[in-house]
Amino acid sequence: MPVYKGDKKGAKAPSSKKPSKKSNLIRNLFFWLFIAIIILAASSAWQGGSGADQLEEVPISDVIRRANEGEIAAIEIIGQEVRVTLRGYEEATQVSRKESGSSIFEQGVNVDSDIEVTITEPSAWGGIIWNVVLTIVPIALIAGLFIFMLRQMNGANNQAMGFGKANAKVYNDSKKIKFDDIAGNEHAKQDLLEVVDFLKSPKKYEALGARIPTGLLLAGDPGTGKTLMARAVAGEASVPFFSISGSEFAEMFVGVGASRVRDLFSKARKNAPSIIFIDEIDAVAHKRDARGGAGREDEQTLNQILVEMDGFDGKTGVIVIAATNRIDMLDRALLRPGRFDRHINVQLPERKDREEILAVHFKNKPHKNIDLKSLAAKTTGLAGADLANIANEAAIIAAREGKKEVGNREVVEAFEKVAIGPERKNKAMNEKERELTAYHEAGHAVVGFVLPDSDPVHKVTVIPRGRTGGVTWFLPPEDRSYKSIYEFKDVMARAMGGRIAESLIYGPDAVTTGAGSDLRHVADIARAMVIEEGMSKKMRNRVFPEVDSGWLGGKKYDYSEATAREIDEEVEALTIEATKRAEAVLKTNIDALKALASELLKKETLEEEEVTAVLKPLTKLPDAAKLHN
Ligand code: ADP
Ligand code: ZN
Repeated sequence: MPVYKGDKKGAKAPSSKKPSKKSNLIRNLFFWLFIAIIILAASSAWQGGSGADQLEEVPISDVIRRANEGEIAAIEIIGQEVRVTLRGYEEATQVSRKESGSSIFEQGVNVDSDIEVTITEPSAWGGIIWNVVLTIVPIALIAGLFIFMLRQMNGANNQAMGFGKANAKVYNDSKKIKFDDIAGNEHAKQDLLEVVDFLKSPKKYEALGARIPTGLLLAGDPGTGKTLMARAVAGEASVPFFSISGSEFAEMFVGVGASRVRDLFSKARKNAPSIIFIDEIDAVAHKRDARGGAGREDEQTLNQILVEMDGFDGKTGVIVIAATNRIDMLDRALLRPGRFDRHINVQLPERKDREEILAVHFKNKPHKNIDLKSLAAKTTGLAGADLANIANEAAIIAAREGKKEVGNREVVEAFEKVAIGPERKNKAMNEKERELTAYHEAGHAVVGFVLPDSDPVHKVTVIPRGRTGGVTWFLPPEDRSYKSIYEFKDVMARAMGGRIAESLIYGPDAVTTGAGSDLRHVADIARAMVIEEGMSKKMRNRVFPEVDSGWLGGKKYDYSEATAREIDEEVEALTIEATKRAEAVLKTNIDALKALASELLKKETLEEEEVTAVLKPLTKLPDAAKLHN
């Protein structure tokens, strides 16, 4: 019996039971309860002033401080509620409460500050509507439930009353996306140009008896521009674009998914030539349960997609484009000829492409002296969506600071914000913690600096960012596709450097939870090396292929219990080796560690050159013998 192991998120194996009629009824009851809760929630939001619950609650003192520091563009006052629109935003994002009977100016906002203040009378209707809702909703609910159960008993189809209508998004033509809006990915674009030609002049192909492909699969990491490309095909060919996401189906009730598919295809056929785009198709089309027990609800959805596609007769004029980031997980039936038989790989952008993508996204943002070349160099592994996000953040930062143009400082700040989270300068960290963080980060930096196969240190900081107390940042000097065992081992050792530095300076049991994510990182690398890459000592060159991923996306591998034990031992060996190497480096270079930590405490952030200046004269490689176990 194979054992399923390596289940990262603790996902359960999908149940292989067919859902019974009774369980459908229960699910649908839950559905109505859910609707009831939504109605109640919506009406209580109404009472409190519509939509206020989507805004971030902040204390009034915070509002007053921000107002006086010029961070606020506008304030709307509704009764006691204060809605805040920060500079750089178009609408209110925060809400606060003030004391009744005193104005915000009385509470401390400078009268001459440049803030647009509007005062709106709170609506008296809120209370009346609330009362009406309170009486009507329960009655409507009971009536609804009753009718619903009658329908179920009569064996009426279980499409919950017209919920089966596809509300596919149709993008309007005024916002046509063209291939020019997509940077890089020349291969994919070339393949898609062909599709554009099919859509534009199908006759040309029919005359020669060629079968026009009906299904096209875009495979690639999230955010690499798959949706963008599908839209560009529609834009270039000037045909309507219908889109829906597989994850939407996954949340539907029995039978609804299939009926939506039917509706979607019929709309597309009526508007042919046209494009149907199914995002995240893996959500409905993952391999059927490995143990042979078929029968999940989303299988009906998948089957309906296949039935619709099989019904295309070559003259339908509808091309279905699906996107996935897990092509290996797709049901084979989907990939057969006549279905999604054309595959286009969409890759993470290389350095040159990243520069082009950034250029696309800075095109309509006024900017000056920004260095996209070096930003492209620093963004290895980021997808187009991340780059678009950086460009947008940079514009927001510049706007918030009242600038007319985006400068390089904003670009760097935006990059760091997107890559590791925003700076939290005001997060309280006591002196003791700051010192510990400095040693911890210096530990990472020294180990990375000394070991030969680690990337150079790009930056070290003890300013809290995102969820971390500090960050040590390594950046590869160039994009690389492969990694060696040497490199993995150096990455693991430098990740251990933080914890080991704490232990050397403060004592073995004084170490803190600050190293938690480092240790998880080490564990992940070690497991991947042993299981997926055949890079362990005892099981060198043996890999354990992934079998079906669970419902919730956890990974599962196929190996015996005896092997599971060996894998654990090998992971353990790699972890111990990483610890020993970090220890050997830091013991040999304890002076360098202390020097770097004190420099960090002084300057908070050190750039690559500053780190090199401190470490270069001090560090030395320990004896090779000490580095291995
Ligand atoms: P996917 O569908 O692969 O998850 P999207 O197409 O939704 O990715 O991409 C999200 C956003 O990222 C796009 O709207 C676009 O702004 C940006 N983007 C991604 N790739 C590119 C690219 N090659 N060129 C320009 N922008 C891109
Ligand atoms: Zn760390």
